[in-house]
Amino acid sequence: MQRESRKVSRRRFLKEATGAVGAASALTILKPRWVRGAEKEFGVVVLLGPPGAGKSEQSRRLTARHSIPIISTGDLLRDQVRRGTQLGLQADTYMKAGQLVPDSLMNPILEDRLSQPDCARGFILDGYPRTLAQAESLDALLKRKGLPPHIILLEVPTERLFKLLTGRRICPRCNRSYNIYFQPPQKENLCDADGTTLVQRPDDKEEVIRRRLDTYQRETQPAIEYYARQGRLVRVNGDQPPEKVAGEIESKLASQ
Ligand code: ADP
Repeated sequence: MQRESRKVSRRRFLKEATGAVGAASALTILKPRWVRGAEKEFGVVVLLGPPGAGKSEQSRRLTARHSIPIISTGDLLRDQVRRGTQLGLQADTYMKAGQLVPDSLMNPILEDRLSQPDCARGFILDGYPRTLAQAESLDALLKRKGLPPHIILLEVPTERLFKLLTGRRICPRCNRSYNIYFQPPQKENLCDADGTTLVQRPDDKEEVIRRRLDTYQRETQPAIEYYARQGRLVRVNGDQPPEKVAGEIESKLASQ
């Protein structure tokens, strides 16, 4: 209701300001590119957060709601590994060790994916940037594309992350993720969607998890501080049920 009346007064304001050329076309001219169209589009949404914070789950909810693709750098890399490409073979060593894949391998894979037509209206970025250098190159890339990003940080206390990661199980067919402690499948170890036997990712083993969390602190924290310093970081409480997290993301995106 309140939003509706704000819309009406915005339309009146634009009509007066533009000499009544027709409110709809005036709105189209004055609206930034990423909010044009019958429905509000969110353009690029960057989901940041430590490993296990639920970025994939929230990406899935966003894609269902806003029909923009999920670009998960972890999935892009795993796909290369599965297909046995040269890049995949090189990336695999780093991934198995819980280390970041170097930008010389990561960036071309990402840029290639983002240049595909389904990304033209926007996309959800899950797992990138993970370093200050990646945050800076992402800014440059998105500036070229004219797609300003919304930066969302999912915050989850470290002690909880450990359980979230050790308990995580993935469906190798549809990529849906579960947690044996917090979000078990209806039938033990089987995907609710397609009945496939769930698996544990090789990097969800304890010693690798510790390394991934350390890497996050050391490498990704500076990227987060970079966005925070510029007043671009939107913090969301990731330590609540997934539907609540999704609600908080939606309301914060809507108010941006
Ligand atoms: P998680 O966020 O749970 O660690 P991901 O699927 O996002 O899992 O990533 C898995 C692995 O892929 C990472 O540990 C890292 O080795 C590699 N990776 C993913 N995204 C990036 C990135 N932006 N830069 C470098 N390496 C990456």
